Amino acid sequence: EAEGEKFEFQAEVSRLMDIIINSLYKTKEIFLRELISNASDALDKIRFMAIGDASALETKPDLELRIQANKDKNTLVIRDTGVGMDRNDMVNNLGTVAKSGTANFVDALAEGQDLSLIGQFGVGFYSIYLVADKVRVASKKNGAEQYVWESTADGVFTVVKDPRGDTLGRGTEITLYLKDGAKEFAKTDVLEGLVKRYSEFISFPIYLEKSYKEEVEVPVEEEEVESGTTEGDEDEEEEYEEVEVSDDVKTKKETITKTVWERVNTNVAIWSRPSSEITDEEYSNFYNAFTKDTVAPQSWIHFKAEGEMEFKSILYIPGEAPSDLYDTYYTKTAQLRLYVKKVLISDEFEELLPRYMNFIRGVVDSDDLPLNVSRETLQQHKLLKVMAKKLTRKVLEMLRRLASKGHTSEPDEAEEEEEDEEEGETKKVVDNEKYIKFWETFGKSIKLGVVEDMVNRAKLVKLLRFRSSLEGNNWTSLEGYLSRAKDWQKSIYYLAGESMEAVQKSPFVEKFKSKGLEVLFLVDSIDEYCIQQIPEFEGKKLQSISKEGLKFGDEDEKTVKSREKHYKEAFASLVEYLKILFKGKIKEVAISHRIESAPSVIVTGRYGHSANMERIMRTQSI
Ligand code: ADP
Ligand code: MG
Repeated sequence: EAEGEKFEFQAEVSRLMDIIINSLYKTKEIFLRELISNASDALDKIRFMAIGDASALETKPDLELRIQANKDKNTLVIRDTGVGMDRNDMVNNLGTVAKSGTANFVDALAEGQDLSLIGQFGVGFYSIYLVADKVRVASKKNGAEQYVWESTADGVFTVVKDPRGDTLGRGTEITLYLKDGAKEFAKTDVLEGLVKRYSEFISFPIYLEKSYKEEVEVPVEEEEVESGTTEGDEDEEEEYEEVEVSDDVKTKKETITKTVWERVNTNVAIWSRPSSEITDEEYSNFYNAFTKDTVAPQSWIHFKAEGEMEFKSILYIPGEAPSDLYDTYYTKTAQLRLYVKKVLISDEFEELLPRYMNFIRGVVDSDDLPLNVSRETLQQHKLLKVMAKKLTRKVLEMLRRLASKGHTSEPDEAEEEEEDEEEGETKKVVDNEKYIKFWETFGKSIKLGVVEDMVNRAKLVKLLRFRSSLEGNNWTSLEGYLSRAKDWQKSIYYLAGESMEAVQKSPFVEKFKSKGLEVLFLVDSIDEYCIQQIPEFEGKKLQSISKEGLKFGDEDEKTVKSREKHYKEAFASLVEYLKILFKGKIKEVAISHRIESAPSVIVTGRYGHSANMERIMRTQSI
């Protein structure tokens, strides 16, 4: 058969393959995770396509994955009945079209990043060259002919019509010719452990071909004919030994190698299981499996919603924030994996959580949504609003619990439908350290929530944390602040500034310190904008100490009046002089009792923007 058409790998892809094939990376087995994940994606795709056109499955009704090793030939074959690839798909997806992740991953590797991150960069396929020096991919897509892609990772690959014809029906078959250092991956027992591990959360059956040696007695015929066992398996061992069993029938003992396909995974989805039976490790592994994130999640909540609509969900807070989380804030809304009747509709379904919760990852599974409508129609569905509301509440509940108890999930508590909150929960002013970790990773999202989510603002405000003049580098909530406040104190005081050094040294703060009053420090650029959405908290006004008209609340009106009068007279000429000196630059010069040792301060008008706000509006960042 023809040599096939030759293609050059796109330059970045070629570089990546070079790195991988020469890599001394020890954990080579990750290639199996990547192949299983690709097969699972392909199976998800055909199942989704079958919603609109049930005949799509006719070419191969069973949706499954099969793994078959050959110890003598040192090959490993992975076959799926997924969507498959036609000739063009192969050329594009497996070599000539570089994804943005390709170069990024090469850079990440150069910076010492772990090779196992490969799946996150969208180039997981090439991890096969950790264990193979030659790879053949045969694939059959509905309505197309079966093609074969092949490469020895030497910069080129070939694509040719499969000389065997259509052997697959539908799907993809990947044959790895194992390298010398990777022969263990042709051993069934080695594979079994790995496949079990990597297929734990795959929702399609995965079969592994296992072989058993078995001694059987077979009749001996007059002319010795080799008795066939499993057809096509030319490598099986056969031993013959003649035995007499009866006078009439001659039999012989024969050791045959029987092969059986064994299912290695159970596919009860983790979110369908009762939470009391799921370990933290399982939750954590599931998160890593579907997100491809290698860092463990900080927390999660697993619940079943009942009532107006039924669905199951597990929502996670990732361990780390993606570096571009706030750069892409306005273009990216929360993306959850949405299953409807076990069919994966989308692994990035938007509109289920508000934008400020776009850091949340998770799965949502509902039998109540219609399957046979387009994704667009589904987005309009009124039940989605019900889901979104519930999911948002659950995220807030998870955060509240994280702060008060630092725990993750609680068996079955999630079933309750109660309109939550604090009842029975004693107010905690000291946060669990897990919440502090959350705050330092995703706190900005909560502040954005205060600005954007009027409905849940009261709950979000309780999740806010600030540094303060009394707490130093510790974080305090508004509740914590009030627990330390003077009983005569009418306001919650804050000062916004560029940095902790700047606010700590600010002359505005001195007077407060001397009175033993706490000042919240707002040093994140969004802080002040956020706090302006909260006119008061538990009856106390939130008050900037850099604006005019500030009252402490402990002054005796009469003394203050007479002192003011005295100072006004004594400094009348200085005030006049300053007004002339700064004419046009300032609005007013006034005698103040707000400062201690600094001779003067510049304040902003009661209704104007603060100096800090001006600075932020100039840079227009969030
Ligand atoms: P990713 O899975 O992140 O897209 P990969 O490098 O793992 O990146 O795979 C590249 C592409 O090759 C996939 O997006 C898919 O189009 C195609 N592909 C790989 N394996 C299969 C498969 N088993 N069936 C169908 N297409 C596949
Ligand atoms: Mg992949």
